[in-house]
Amino acid sequence: MREERKSMLIVISGPSGVGKGTIYSQLLKNDHSLTFSVSVTTRAPRLGERDGVDYFFITQEEYDRLLAQDAFLEHAAVHGNCYGTLKSQVEAKLAAGWSVVLDIDPQGARNVMNIWPDCVSIFLLPPSYEELRRRLYGRNTDNPEAIERRLSNARGEIEQASLYQYNVVNDDVERAYQRVAAIIAAEKLRTTRYKPVVE
Ligand code: ADP
Ligand code: 5GP
Repeated sequence: MREERKSMLIVISGPSGVGKGTIYSQLLKNDHSLTFSVSVTTRAPRLGERDGVDYFFITQEEYDRLLAQDAFLEHAAVHGNCYGTLKSQVEAKLAAGWSVVLDIDPQGARNVMNIWPDCVSIFLLPPSYEELRRRLYGRNTDNPEAIERRLSNARGEIEQASLYQYNVVNDDVERAYQRVAAIIAAEKLRTTRYKPVVE
């Protein structure tokens, strides 16, 4: 038996602080067919963040230059900073046979769903707004003003959750991870992506 597989683009979105990074880190650790697309951002690095690993941290001028060069698959201004997915990251990784995970905001996710209809789209929801607030303050990476801006954006983002193929509530990390892993396992077996060749 021979098997032919096609890689896929997986969009993980949701409000800031819902747990996207937590869930995709577990996915990447446990499924070696997946890789992450490192985005560019004009945001300053947080303590412990590494250039080229968490993001490519760039200046506004560099960002504008990339924009003019049409280097982005999608890009968006999010909570006061600019973010973008590089075409070069996604295309090279897909061509090498990886399935590529994007952790992007809901504006970017909608753009990718439009230009890449074959992508798998997953929106993570918090169990409540109060819990989202707790997570943002508990993460201790953003100042109160930035957190409040993220929280007020969250309401509109959550209203759009039904645009995605899948909604997963991140109430418990292990349960949410298992659900996302199950979605990816099933999506890999679609006939458009998986062909068992009987010899
Ligand atoms: P995002 O990438 O969506 O901004 P993070 O993955 O950074 O969110 O998670 C935000 C904070 O919430 C982190 O401190 C993380 O440890 C915590 N967290 C994530 N998932 C859960 C959960 N299910 N229950 C409690 N805390 C969580
Ligand atoms: P943070 O500043 O907390 O790392 O990310 C803020 C938001 O920007 C998150 O919702 C994250 O998903 C989103 N984001 C990260 N990279 C990109 C990207 O390349 N494009 C878009 N549209 N959003 C991104």
